[in-house]
Amino acid sequence: MTQTITVIRGDGIGPEIMDATLHVLDTMQLGLKYEYADAGLAAMEKHGELLPAATLESIRRNAIALKSPLTTPVGEGFSSINVALRRHFDLYANVRPAKSFPNTKSRFPSGVDIVTVRENTEGAYIGEGQSITEDGETATLMQKVTRKGSERIVRYAFDLARRTGRKKITVVHKANILKTTSGLFLKVAREVAAQYPEIECNEMIVDNTCMQLVMRPEQFDVIVTTNLFGDIISDLCAGLVGGLGLAPGANIGVDAAIFEAVHGTAPDIAGKGLANPCALILGAAQMLDHLGKPDQAQRLREAVIATLEAKDSLTPDLGGDGDTMAFARAIANRL
Ligand code: NAD
Repeated sequence: MTQTITVIRGDGIGPEIMDATLHVLDTMQLGLKYEYADAGLAAMEKHGELLPAATLESIRRNAIALKSPLTTPVGEGFSSINVALRRHFDLYANVRPAKSFPNTKSRFPSGVDIVTVRENTEGAYIGEGQSITEDGETATLMQKVTRKGSERIVRYAFDLARRTGRKKITVVHKANILKTTSGLFLKVAREVAAQYPEIECNEMIVDNTCMQLVMRPEQFDVIVTTNLFGDIISDLCAGLVGGLGLAPGANIGVDAAIFEAVHGTAPDIAGKGLANPCALILGAAQMLDHLGKPDQAQRLREAVIATLEAKDSLTPDLGGDGDTMAFARAIANRL
């Protein structure tokens, strides 16, 4: 059956890594059809707006988007186009796997396999209650945590563990100090955990979690946490296994899901063929999981790993001298 996905080629290195990713997907002959839509600077130049209604309509219709990074111009009234997309489609779960890969010059070339499930709509990122006094001396910010928001993200993490055979969930919080927000999140997490007796659940304070991640990352399996902690921890996890060039992310809601690379538009290397396409390719693997094709997703990940192992056409960030498309072709050749 043909599945149509919305494809956003994005800004900076976006078009290069998207072309590379689509080349790899085409090689797999999955019957995917691409509907191209614009967002970011590319959309501004073509349509005079950063996030055209036609793009939102395409994502709504297809329910799945593969998206390259976008530039949010400074001072345009948007805090970020990505945040706007998450809000519009209520993409409440940000799912970021971090797995050791060979030949990546990372601190942990083996032994790390962590999925961070970050609450994506609440917490410190609600954009409300931000104020600064006229003299610039005092700033405030509001955080919001709800039972509904906490329950659905913790349940998502436990369901993910159940579906993918993962054994342990770590609930990361700061309820000792943030007694209301983190306190409510932890209380709800305990209630949900009780409904999944076959999955081990432990609790960890966020500062200790950061230290433990750096010292003994192999103790973690799935981490579930609130928005700000998840933002920081998922980047920390990406750093453990080789950096942003290998870090994919999924933003998942009830009615739509957007798959992407975690990194930005990398303006310093844009247009030079130097960008590592792996993060977006691994984002496409997450998309295949979501589309109910876990075998194909695994096949794609194995081709990426085999290419890294062979050091075939790796991009300069991984110490090679390949270019973006050569790296993609090397992956495609192994499929
Ligand atoms: P960045 O991730 O674009 O770049 C940070 C560093 O990592 C740069 O040195 C860059 O060359 C390198 N890098 C990133 N991706 C790479 C890849 N695939 N291969 C090789 N090297 C890579 O972060 P930044 O410089 O802070 O942000 C640049 C722009 O990207 C900003 O406009 C920002 O708003 C935007 N951004 C977009 C997203 C998104 O759309 N998801 C996320 C983050 C930043």
